[in-house]
Amino acid sequence: MTAELPGSTRIVIIGAGVIGTGLAWSLARTGCADVVVLEQGQPGCGTSWHSAGNIIRMNTDPGTVQIFSESQRVITELSQRHDLGWRQCGRIMLARNNKRLREFDRIQDTLARLGVDCEIIEKVSISEKLPILNTDDIAGAIWSPGDGRVDPAALVSAFASEAVDAGVSIIDGVRVIQALQDGSRITGVLTDQGEIDCEVVVNCAGMWARELGLRNGVDIPLYAVEHFYLLTETIAGVQPNMPTFRDPDGLIYGREEVGGLLLGCFDRDAIPVRLADLPQPFEFGLLNENWDQFGPYLEQGIHRIPALANAGIRSLVNGPESFTLDAEPHMDRAPGLSNYFVLAGLSSTGVTRSGGMTAAMARWILDGDPAIDVQPFSLRRFASEHNDETYLRKHIRKVPAGHFQLEA
Ligand SMILES: Cc1cc2nc3c(=O)[nH]c(=O)nc-3n(C[C@H](O)[C@H](O)[C@H](O)COP(=O)(O)OP(=O)(O)OC[C@H]3O[C@@H](n4cnc5c(N)ncnc54)[C@H](O)[C@@H]3O)c2cc1C
Repeated sequence: MTAELPGSTRIVIIGAGVIGTGLAWSLARTGCADVVVLEQGQPGCGTSWHSAGNIIRMNTDPGTVQIFSESQRVITELSQRHDLGWRQCGRIMLARNNKRLREFDRIQDTLARLGVDCEIIEKVSISEKLPILNTDDIAGAIWSPGDGRVDPAALVSAFASEAVDAGVSIIDGVRVIQALQDGSRITGVLTDQGEIDCEVVVNCAGMWARELGLRNGVDIPLYAVEHFYLLTETIAGVQPNMPTFRDPDGLIYGREEVGGLLLGCFDRDAIPVRLADLPQPFEFGLLNENWDQFGPYLEQGIHRIPALANAGIRSLVNGPESFTLDAEPHMDRAPGLSNYFVLAGLSSTGVTRSGGMTAAMARWILDGDPAIDVQPFSLRRFASEHNDETYLRKHIRKVPAGHFQLEA
């Protein structure tokens, strides 16, 4: 996908992860292919390539469910033309107590109002769908048959190749240093290989978005943390099309992967990752395995899936993922800069939100109206002091597990 740096273009997207390539695809589909995507490494090489790829629709917030549903429609459409490893295997969310079940009732209400299929199920039905689970301490579950899983690297490739076919340029190996500014307007971008004039810039730089924003005085409070999943050797009873599952009270989730189990977690005390400490260049990179940190979640996993106790271990994948302080993405126009947009801080939902959020961002840029409520994603929900690195490092630790906490 490498090409010459052009002198000018209408829209520059910084970063070719699932969000940047998704946005390029959405812009092309909405009618504008005069777009250049600049990627410091190769498409997908940041966080996107090692995502667990779970595609979910369950949420209490109607706006979020609409974004999830739009993403799923995009994946379903693309999977007719590309091998995305898309399996619509359904998803079970488990409740260990009645309070969690009441949350599931609210999810069911929201989904029912939007015409999305889901149902509250009892233990016997959980065991029929996922016989490997121990349900002794389970109060019930919610089942969403339309959810599934996708290969995130294949999704990035599909977005990228269709965007390029439509006329978008995706240029590898170019690092954006900062946007070029004339008062309250962006006029272009400065890269390590020259400048490009543009009318609009979109910062889709994942965990790098904060530092990039600061170079133009834009506060994008997000911070990367170590984020894990375990991959096992094959386990008897783990079937390719089995539903994905989440056990929010145990802070774990899982699914089949090549006949074994992928077991992930949302850490109660996540370890912040300083960008300067990443091995350079950090292209298709991972962090070191951290068994001490994963230990409590392995215990939860063995409790929930007893067969895991005797499974061979393939690896413990530790990849950095950026979270915002409230685990909601940032999707906004930068305050004080009329043509600098931000879509970053996906907080472990970047793949499942990619189609929906990038479609909304494309509508916002091209038509002036995202046609969804973007208030929850506004950069203005935080103050400048929230973007202080010491503040972020202290408070980001509790975010990954925090969004599973039940309301009082
Ligand atoms: C272990 C793990 C499991 C996950 N599981 C799921 C899941 O099941 N479902 C789900 O939806 N999400 C999941 N996620 C989250 C998901 O992977 C991310 O939210 C998503 O990949 C973020 O995409 P992105 O495009 O914003 O960032 P990235 O993929 O990191 O893309 C940003 C790109 O910007 C480039 N870039 C940065 N700075 C510059 C610059 N200055 N110039 C040029 N290029 C630049 C980078 O090289 C990078 O390629 C998981 C994440 C992890 C770590």
